[in-house]
Amino acid sequence: MVDQKKQLTESARLIRWRMAHERFRFADEFRIVPRWLKGLAIALFVVGQVVAQLVHFFEPRQAPLAMAMGVAAATALGADLFLLFFGYVNRDAERRGMNSTLWTLLVIFVPYLIGVIIYFLVREPLLYICPGCRANVSARFNFCPNCKLNLRPSCPQCKQEVRSDDKYCPYCAEELATKTSPQPEQVKGQAMIQPAE
Ligand SMILES: [Zn+2]
Ligand SMILES: [Zn+2]
Repeated sequence: MVDQKKQLTESARLIRWRMAHERFRFADEFRIVPRWLKGLAIALFVVGQVVAQLVHFFEPRQAPLAMAMGVAAATALGADLFLLFFGYVNRDAERRGMNSTLWTLLVIFVPYLIGVIIYFLVREPLLYICPGCRANVSARFNFCPNCKLNLRPSCPQCKQEVRSDDKYCPYCAEELATKTSPQPEQVKGQAMIQPAE
């Protein structure tokens, strides 16, 4: 029971961490989608247009060119959207040290987007750079394993977690001055470990 409560507190802390430190920028996120998948998405669109031309060629009355091409474009774009999204989840899970195969399958096969929602709720925080030694560290760490820097400074009086730039403890007003280590900074929500191409 106590352990469960501790785990819940830790999960809540990690969700807060992600919200505060991971800035979402579409261009950055889109970059992690595998290149071959982007190629496939374009190919799918082109094939759709070719098929539309063929259908129009053989059935000119039932399938006017504009209609055939429009239907093909909508279908291909819809399929592309899903494909690219699945590719994103796969790479995103991988860079966060999660089981990427399992999560990709969950997102694809659990209906009504429930898998997607669960994924975005429970995904691990991105690694960030230790302000002390520039090593990659996890938001779960209390101390940097490379340079022993305190990554989660706390108030010496009440032991609550504080920010490095706090002058006074927000919980008990203890003067903090420079007794705590600097707060680690996430670098613009980018992956710290570059995904393998
Ligand atoms: Zn360090
Ligand atoms: Zn305090």
